[in-house]
Amino acid sequence: MSKRDYYEVLGVSRNASDEELKKAYRRCAMKYHPDRNPGDKAAEAAFKECKEAYEVLSDGGKRRLYDQYGHAAFEHGMGGGNAGPGFADMGDIFGDIFGNIFGGGRQQAPRRGADIGYVMELDLEEAVAGIEKTIRVPTLAICEPCKGSGSEDGRIETCRSCHGRGQVRVQRGPFVMQSPCPHCDGSGRTISTPCRRCNGNGRVHDEKTLQVRIPAGVDNGDRIRLAGEGEAGPVGASPGDLYVEIRVRPHPIFERDGDDLHCEVPIRISQAALGDSIRVPTLGGEVELRIPAETQTGRVFRLRGQGVKSVRSRHPGDLYCRVVVETPVNLTAEQRELLEKFEATFTGENARRHSPKSSTFLDGVKGFWDRMVS
Ligand SMILES: [Zn+2]
Ligand SMILES: [Zn+2]
Repeated sequence: MSKRDYYEVLGVSRNASDEELKKAYRRCAMKYHPDRNPGDKAAEAAFKECKEAYEVLSDGGKRRLYDQYGHAAFEHGMGGGNAGPGFADMGDIFGDIFGNIFGGGRQQAPRRGADIGYVMELDLEEAVAGIEKTIRVPTLAICEPCKGSGSEDGRIETCRSCHGRGQVRVQRGPFVMQSPCPHCDGSGRTISTPCRRCNGNGRVHDEKTLQVRIPAGVDNGDRIRLAGEGEAGPVGASPGDLYVEIRVRPHPIFERDGDDLHCEVPIRISQAALGDSIRVPTLGGEVELRIPAETQTGRVFRLRGQGVKSVRSRHPGDLYCRVVVETPVNLTAEQRELLEKFEATFTGENARRHSPKSSTFLDGVKGFWDRMVS
């Protein structure tokens, strides 16, 4: 991405004086300030651009570097952590410039409200089809009576200790450090009559009710971000975000693996031997599955496209049905008689011919004993 020339951004000549720079920046800032252009992304970007340009050009050292090397002077941490634009202390610039423009004194850019996490449990069907749910989330909301200002009478004063910057300089040996102003807790402002409802906080504990639309195909661990639905920010700051994390409850029939579904289908011994057509469940309703003759237990059949279409995929996965041959129970006299007759047919060579697994198994066992003896 190519950056515009800083002088061009501010619309000043390369030998502009500090006073001219300041004037130019004021003009830009007045025009593009987020408070005056709420929700306007282009204005926000333009505002950041001016701020960055001013921040560099108003600093003698940085301006010299920029004149010599251009934008490259501030790339990849050249000149240490504080040299790059965007990382320096914005509070000073804000304090100096906006202190005059907006009367009340522009404070240290306020922190945003905290993000909130919410775990939402869904049934597999809900996760696959998508759903709209109403949730209740404990949060910090803007205090109604004072509209979040924290002031009972609406009067807010600039903190006298830090002059609205929210930061104070503290001398520690040879170092001068910035630390949050202890008088105003870094907010840059003081209230003589705090709001009775929120004690001057501007925020109150509340439970908010939200309609959340869950897109079709979400899976365990997916997170949905609801921008601006987190905790309200401290006075004037933007709210945090709400993250809804999806947990899918175990399903009695299906197990999900990405886009695929797996299930186990019991069949009778006679169906397995003779072949049959059975109905198997899918998330969209029942479908027919043809069981060929001589199907062994554990065989897996794939039903194409009967899986899940996840939020990220374009085509649905498959459904894998694993058939399990079930031993019949509670036999009637007739069934018992039939099975006894059936069993009696497995003699001599017949036993091997009709039982592929047993014969392999028996051969294996025989080989095992032969090796033991020799
Ligand atoms: Zn203060
Ligand atoms: Zn209040």
